[in-house]
Amino acid sequence: MSTYFVRTLREDPADAEVASHKLLVRAGYIRRAAPGIYTWMPLGLRMLGKVSAVVREEMEAIGCDEVEFPALLPSGPYEATGRWSEYGDNLFRLKDRRGGDYLLAPTHEEMFTLLVKDMYSSYKDLPCMLYQIQTKYRDEARPRAGVIRGREFVMKDAYSFDIDDEGLDRSYEAQRGAYQRIFKRLGLPHVICQAMSGPMGGSRSEEFLFPCEIGEDTFVRSAGGYAANAEAVTTVAPEPRGWESVPQSVKRETPGAHTIEAVVDYSNEAYPREDGRPWSAADTLKALMVTAAYGDGRREVVLVCVPGDRDIDMKRLEASLGADTVDLASPEDLAPYPSIVPGFTGPTCAGPDHPDRVVSEEGEISGSPRLLVDPRVVDGTEWIAGAGEEGYHLYHLVAGRDFHADGTVEAAEIRPGDPAPDGSGPLETARGIEIGHIFQLGRKYAKALDLKVLDANGKTQIVTMGSYGIGVSRVLAALAEANHDEKGLAWPTNVAPFHVAIVAVGKSEELVDKACEIGRALEREGVDVLVDDRKKVSAGVKFADAELLGMPYTIVVGRGLSNGVVEVRERREGTSIEVGVDDVVAHVSKRVADDLARSQEV
Ligand code: ATP
Ligand code: MG
Repeated sequence: MSTYFVRTLREDPADAEVASHKLLVRAGYIRRAAPGIYTWMPLGLRMLGKVSAVVREEMEAIGCDEVEFPALLPSGPYEATGRWSEYGDNLFRLKDRRGGDYLLAPTHEEMFTLLVKDMYSSYKDLPCMLYQIQTKYRDEARPRAGVIRGREFVMKDAYSFDIDDEGLDRSYEAQRGAYQRIFKRLGLPHVICQAMSGPMGGSRSEEFLFPCEIGEDTFVRSAGGYAANAEAVTTVAPEPRGWESVPQSVKRETPGAHTIEAVVDYSNEAYPREDGRPWSAADTLKALMVTAAYGDGRREVVLVCVPGDRDIDMKRLEASLGADTVDLASPEDLAPYPSIVPGFTGPTCAGPDHPDRVVSEEGEISGSPRLLVDPRVVDGTEWIAGAGEEGYHLYHLVAGRDFHADGTVEAAEIRPGDPAPDGSGPLETARGIEIGHIFQLGRKYAKALDLKVLDANGKTQIVTMGSYGIGVSRVLAALAEANHDEKGLAWPTNVAPFHVAIVAVGKSEELVDKACEIGRALEREGVDVLVDDRKKVSAGVKFADAELLGMPYTIVVGRGLSNGVVEVRERREGTSIEVGVDDVVAHVSKRVADDLARSQEV
């Protein structure tokens, strides 16, 4: 420690909100270089190496071979697949001295596809699986929480290549199994959630989420075994019904009722229902004007309507639209649409039936925005909604009779108790961090880049692919979230930068020499050791640092030495025992070996 490049901080960094970010910076694992860009310090780098080693072993075990691509790439292959533009602002683009377009790769499907195309030409070469552990670049709109969402980050990305769908299923299962073993070995609890395939198409897509309050992803699960990212949950819609018994829609005065709550209160006061049932938020339609920006540069104003008792979940809306970002429409965005009256907007203010709607020969829509409704808004359902006139709402507004939508959208929040789409019972919701993502790409990339091989009959076949990512640097932060207490980090043995910290307490040369001697003996047993031999540092500070840094075992070499004993502390259990100084190497190295062996058993 007297020469190791580490300085611990007593204060939390000002920009840190979550525990992992605070602790990794304070304990000297990472250092911020720029927003969303971090330097790996010696401790962090060692740990990154240990996590990567687990990933490597499990990749090799399923016959996936390691390669490494450059991060700096020409735009060509990404233009061929359309991602050069689809990636939008998230892509770091640059030019070389000749004016050629380059990028810092956000992920490498294109390059792996081209590499396999370069090397292979026959079905006999397949199946094939390749991976790399490499730095990725994404100009994230909201970098966050240290290395959890960085603009530069380390990813393990693997790709599979098969001749047919059955082969792809087998490769997918092999990767899925490897992921389960990796996260088990790392001691990270995970839930496998159905995910959105996204604009890349493909069929099966699952995310591995580490359940954690500070996670950005909301996921749901049912007692019957369904689990999905909230973005991927489809609403169970009711059957359409007739509207014979519903009175004609009427426009009624609702002065000042800008909010759902105000509309409900005013309606119960002024227009009570004949059968005495009070109006509730569920009887109203909430209307939201949003501006969606797509990867290809397209921008669109959309009117979204959901039942008034539901909030709008912007991430679900974004995913459902396939948009890069979705924001509330600004007054400037709304200027071309006089039919939109904030606070009094409803489904009759937009959509295919609206008189302002113009459709060009190319099918482009203008004049009135697209109207997208929640899937629960089926034909025959009856609503109270804004009339498009300041101070008025429409009552008995019936979907299919009084308005038509351009389509449906999954924008409403998922609430605990909502039914699982597969009928497996009510959903509960929780938050998590996406640590891995596996999906079947199918033939999209192979088609775009012309990756074909000859099959057994001598016919050319387009190869089918899968893509499998783990956020290695994000996993490190997830591990910090899972393994800390109020004193600092507390690592499991197999991922700790060092297995053992040895703290020499006291100023005498003899103590420090003994600490170093024990350290060297442990290293000969294959144990990773960090000796705190600092002379001008108090015992209190050394203990606090050892607790902050989080190594699983601490050997305290101090006063007891004159009686032939040292103290062995366990960071995670908080226990402490005295061990004879002559036994301590055998004792601790056995504990470490047992821990490592146990973490291999999966
Ligand atoms: P997210 O939804 O969190 O933005 P993603 O779905 O865009 O992630 P993928 O393209 O599936 O990410 O990348 C594979 C893995 O890489 C993710 O599961 C995640 O663990 C990790 N990852 C993605 N983006 C980042 C980032 N900005 N910083 C750190 N890790 C990331
Ligand atoms: Mg993902």
